[in-house]
Amino acid sequence: MGRIYLDHNATTPLLPEARAAIEQALDLFGNPSSVHAEGRAARGAVERARASIAEVLGADARNVIFTSGATEANNAVLRHFAASAPVMVSASEHVSVLEPAGPTAHRLPVGADGLLDLDALDAALAEAGPGALASVQLANNETGIIQPIPDIAALVHASGAYLHVDAVQGVGRIPVELAALGAEYLTLSAHKLGGPKGVGALVLASQGLPVPQSLLAGGGQERRRRAGTENVLGIAGFGAAVEATPRRLAAAEAMRALRDWFEGALLPICGGTVVFGGQAPRLPNTLCVAVPGIGAEKAVIALDLAGIAVGAGAACSSGRIGASHVLAAMGVDRERAAGALRISLSPETRREELEQVLDVWRRTIEPMTAGRARRAA
Ligand code: PLP
Repeated sequence: MGRIYLDHNATTPLLPEARAAIEQALDLFGNPSSVHAEGRAARGAVERARASIAEVLGADARNVIFTSGATEANNAVLRHFAASAPVMVSASEHVSVLEPAGPTAHRLPVGADGLLDLDALDAALAEAGPGALASVQLANNETGIIQPIPDIAALVHASGAYLHVDAVQGVGRIPVELAALGAEYLTLSAHKLGGPKGVGALVLASQGLPVPQSLLAGGGQERRRRAGTENVLGIAGFGAAVEATPRRLAAAEAMRALRDWFEGALLPICGGTVVFGGQAPRLPNTLCVAVPGIGAEKAVIALDLAGIAVGAGAACSSGRIGASHVLAAMGVDRERAAGALRISLSPETRREELEQVLDVWRRTIEPMTAGRARRAA
């Protein structure tokens, strides 16, 4: 068997539809801002992608702003509000929300189940008043825990605040529709949904909302909301990947059943294995586990040598494994959190692949726990 890739929350392989769209766009060399035929052809590809993304989300295409990825989109919203209004962020947000929110942002606690503490949100909203921003992710990249965004939106709007939702991990795995979520600002990243890296979007729910300033200066692209020539290839691939959302969603329940079966088979292999977020609504593709006494780094390397790619729950973007602020926010102690492994499937993941993982787990991971127990005795 070839390699088994189970790190789809880190990034996804390119979908065939996205690859085809990028290949087609390779010939569209014009600058989308140019008025001549070459420019208009490139502009056409950008606008087709914008329309597709808007349609899938139930948004107005004019309110889709292409960026270099979700990090930029999150930064744009958080920096904009942090400069002028109170900001609240859940403690389990991605760092691209936490850092631009700044040190004065109100960190909202999550419970042991990973879900946002709605009483704490309500209290923070009352203190912040109208015009504030709350930023709460749709689903967590480490645990897959899904926040109750419509309930959160109701609280946020009752106090006259705005809601930003980082929906990066949700699209293609669970339904994501702007009106149903109730968010004013939504962030997407192409490479988490079968598109290419280096492109994403900030989507506004309506005209008339405060528009985050472009983080870059020096160009009037994206209706003056994001300077710089558009990434035509990336945007074309992004649009095609988003168009594949209905197909991927149709496969989500089968993927959930496979994940649940795998989880049930994995847990008994090493005594004391815990699942993080198992009590909360979770993405259908994600399983975050820790085996007592085994560091994530060791396990990731052992599995990699056996041909299996999984993520370390707390791997940061530099590739090092640090303390997970997400698990810490859930009250998980440091030692246990340091062993967190994230196994994330795609709709293409096959049962035979997971059977192979179970086999490797028995032959490689379980003996590591046995060795530890012997040394401790
Ligand atoms: N938000 C979440 C929840 C993520 O998982 C990630 C990527 O890890 C990002 C934002 C950043 O996305 P990008 O790689 O497009 O900058």
